[in-house]
Amino acid sequence: MSNPRELPTDHLATTTKDGHRVYLYPADVRGFFRTLRNFLNVILIAFFLALPWIRIGGRPAILLHLPERKFAILGIQFWAHDAPMLFFVIAGAVLTIFFITAVWGRIWCGYACPQTVFVDGVFRKIERWIEGDSIARRRLDEGPWTSDKVFKKAAKWGVFVAVSLVIGHSFLATFTGTEALAEMMKQSPLQSPGAFGVMAFISGLVLFDFGWFREQFCLIACPYGRFQSVLMDDRSMVVGYDVKRGEPRRGVAPPNPPTGDCVNCYRCVAVCPTGIDIRRGTQMECIACTACMDACDRVMEKIGKPTGLIRYKTFAGDRDQVSPFRPRSILYAVLLALVASALVVKIRNHQLVSADFVRATEAPYQVVPNADGGATVTNHFKLDIRNQDFDPSQVRVRLAEESKARGVELVTVHPELELRAGELRRLDVFFRFPKSIVEKGRVQAFVEIAGKDLIRQEVRLVGPLF
Ligand code: SF4
Ligand code: SF4
Repeated sequence: MSNPRELPTDHLATTTKDGHRVYLYPADVRGFFRTLRNFLNVILIAFFLALPWIRIGGRPAILLHLPERKFAILGIQFWAHDAPMLFFVIAGAVLTIFFITAVWGRIWCGYACPQTVFVDGVFRKIERWIEGDSIARRRLDEGPWTSDKVFKKAAKWGVFVAVSLVIGHSFLATFTGTEALAEMMKQSPLQSPGAFGVMAFISGLVLFDFGWFREQFCLIACPYGRFQSVLMDDRSMVVGYDVKRGEPRRGVAPPNPPTGDCVNCYRCVAVCPTGIDIRRGTQMECIACTACMDACDRVMEKIGKPTGLIRYKTFAGDRDQVSPFRPRSILYAVLLALVASALVVKIRNHQLVSADFVRATEAPYQVVPNADGGATVTNHFKLDIRNQDFDPSQVRVRLAEESKARGVELVTVHPELELRAGELRRLDVFFRFPKSIVEKGRVQAFVEIAGKDLIRQEVRLVGPLF
């Protein structure tokens, strides 16, 4: 007779043969890794909810304001034209995940992915609190619709909706900023239908995914899960079963054999949130949540055997094989260092006000004779000044003292101007200087643009060769 606890071999345990969803009821587990993950869940959830409220240097730690095309990451402001900087940030994040995956496998999925953190740390906890443990939940779902079932389902989904709305609002705050969100919440949704629509969509998505879809997202939709195998090698860390120690498992070997340590209790299968049996080897569906490690350790303690029958290991051997010093991880680390260095240079050069001189399209210079026999040369430039700050900025354009001392003059209608946040203004700027200071057709001048920063720009002026 076939074992009802044995998982199918020809299709996933989370779907029927014809592709319908099989709802999982993972059992609760206690142990070292469970406690560690509970602790991390609290920190990560608090961090996610607090993130839009955190200020660094008076600016949001994170802001992705798409309508106004302004962004802030770690308090550093970007505008849409700063896309190269955003590219380095994204490339750095991707390479960090590549490096971590190459060394420590799917540790991100198990400990830090928002999907795992919220499903495990919030939604399953609410479910357990209202509907009971995995056996009670399964019975409730399979049982008839009684008043108790209606009450429990309504209570659970009511709390799920409330939590999803909190997550949806918090997510929206990263796009609008907390002040704008607070303002919108005081008004009717009809006054900000776009933002309300985004919040309702995200809250609905969270409710659907964390409340019901759950492991199906990891198995079907998550792109990171798909390309794991190309990022890992035989010395990346995985959650694995010690076949040598565990087999032949009890009840499978012929009569009176020396059996391995696995007592074939299926606890590791019962607790798995993605519905796999890790004893069949490392599988793409494993999100490295460590639940089976804790579950099996409890069984080993009960039967007086050493823990670690299921443990962190590598394809090549034991966990001590895990090392960041391998060609693959070194390559990711080098690329990451290059991207991080480029980002640091970009950030160091990032000014609150940017200024670019572009020579005007008419003749490069004009010469006007003076009464004293000399001549004055004029160069015409366009000056693009952009306020890169999220606040208005007062800006003053002036010539550096040493250029003034050489007889260069700067003429513009608006030497002082107030720029709105993100505003770009184009000024006509004329440089006048005596022909006598022209050397080999050139004159070097320096302009200072004084705002919250002081920018010093070199401008190459031209004049007649003779
Ligand atoms: S929990 Fe441990 S002993 Fe039980 S079936 Fe899994 S591997 Fe075997
Ligand atoms: S096999 Fe173990 S580590 Fe992998 S998802 Fe299942 S319970 Fe988590």
